[in-house]
Amino acid sequence: MESTLSVPLYESQLADTVMGDASHSNGELQNGFMDPRVLEQMNELDLPTTDEASMEESQPSTEITESPEKRKYSFSPTGCCYDARMMFHANADFSAAPHHPEDPRRIQAIFKAFKDAGLIYNGPSSDLPEILKEAPSKWMYRIEVRRALEEEIGLAHSAGHIEWVKALDQKSSADLRAMTKHMDQGRKSLYVGSLTHEAALLSAGGAIETCKNVVAGTCKNAIAIIRPPGHHAEHNQSMGFCIFNNVPIAAKVCMSDYPELCRKVLILDWDVHHGNGIQNMFYEDPNVLYISIHVYQGGHFYPGPPEDEGIPDGNINKCGAGVGIGKNINIGWHDQGMGDGEYMAAFQKIVMPIAEEFDPDLVIISAGFDAAAGDELGGCFVTPACYAHMTHMLMSLANGKVAVCLEGGYNLRAISKSALAVAKTLMGEPPPRLALQPLNKDANYVLQSVRQQHAVYWECMRPGVLAVDRLLEKGGVRMDTVLRNSQGREYYREFKMVSLYVQRNGLANSSFKDQVLCTPRAFEAKKLVVIIHDP
Ligand SMILES: [Zn+2]
Repeated sequence: MESTLSVPLYESQLADTVMGDASHSNGELQNGFMDPRVLEQMNELDLPTTDEASMEESQPSTEITESPEKRKYSFSPTGCCYDARMMFHANADFSAAPHHPEDPRRIQAIFKAFKDAGLIYNGPSSDLPEILKEAPSKWMYRIEVRRALEEEIGLAHSAGHIEWVKALDQKSSADLRAMTKHMDQGRKSLYVGSLTHEAALLSAGGAIETCKNVVAGTCKNAIAIIRPPGHHAEHNQSMGFCIFNNVPIAAKVCMSDYPELCRKVLILDWDVHHGNGIQNMFYEDPNVLYISIHVYQGGHFYPGPPEDEGIPDGNINKCGAGVGIGKNINIGWHDQGMGDGEYMAAFQKIVMPIAEEFDPDLVIISAGFDAAAGDELGGCFVTPACYAHMTHMLMSLANGKVAVCLEGGYNLRAISKSALAVAKTLMGEPPPRLALQPLNKDANYVLQSVRQQHAVYWECMRPGVLAVDRLLEKGGVRMDTVLRNSQGREYYREFKMVSLYVQRNGLANSSFKDQVLCTPRAFEAKKLVVIIHDP
């Protein structure tokens, strides 16, 4: 068990929000969360078990709890990972109004919305055993935050980058302010403070624990309310409010810790900005399908063009490379202003068909809520109901193993309402009714272009398959036969070329008719031209 930060001031400040150390918790309820150690006692209770074959594979292979896989899905709780210590990453500019959109209060606002909505248990801990017996999935299951280990971060980041973040600990406030002033501009867009390293370790560790608990089946699905966000952070540098790239780190840890349970991962990124870092970390990886829905605006919207022209951006023609070709899907809107109609269409026409064909073992949502209505940076109009529907659709994949990790989103009200809608859906509430606006014409063109791009890689993106045999029976003729016949006739007329008979036993000779054309007098001529038509 990780100890809390050893600065006494913080403990007293955070007493009512942070989930503290086990030593003063009696292993029971703290701050409204169900403690996993209490929940583990559920295994001893008389819970229904399942004999469904689909649950067999949920054998955890490492240290996470003994036999949660025996729990029936509907009796498994939704996990929630939160720790107020992640608020300590703050702008070192201590002036009167050091406003920055990536405000530490973002995670607090979301957690408060969960508490206010009654998703977090708040009653006396003496009632817990009975409650857990009667309704084990009624409240959220607490996933403990811990610091990510250096070797875990090293799965996604260079040693130099890890050192750079670590070194922030030693810098003076004046140095940090100077660095922030310099880095806050342009594509880098970053601020740093004296506890940035600590918060970034917790954020990455929170993502890891959230995904691992879902893979191992300790909870059916989970949401991590974490910051600093991650999806812009590159292998070798922080940028775009992001220090370490939480989701790729968590995905890589799960794939290495659970090689049997977690072979293929879908990362769905609905943050309004392109997740350049995630894309580039998995660009050549066939086992990780990255789908990003973002505003592209001809390449002008943040993060914009990479400094190095050889690095791909968020354009729809960036489809992956090497063995990972087709496993990178950019649904880059032509402009801001997109809403529920466009997002639902993207899901129905592209995300879900491809995700079903890919058939992941784990779905991670890089959940930025800056496409939400009310977010000034995003300028889009996605409603909480639409976030609920998108979550609901993704829950049909991977036996419901969905881990949601917070990325961006800067309007405290909008992100709280959106995250709450996602959490309720994870817990089993049906998504609210949607009133869809007609699909924007240009957005529809973007979707069609993405389908065309990916028709080469995905069966479901092709226009459809014809029943050729049945059409032939009805007197239909194949296009290549028509072409060959026409070519044969034309070349006979112009050059007196003749068709050579192709001897193929056991195959219909009609399909080889006119396939080889030859200039006349084949047996006497000194020069011959032979045309072989390759259908
Ligand atoms: Zn964003």
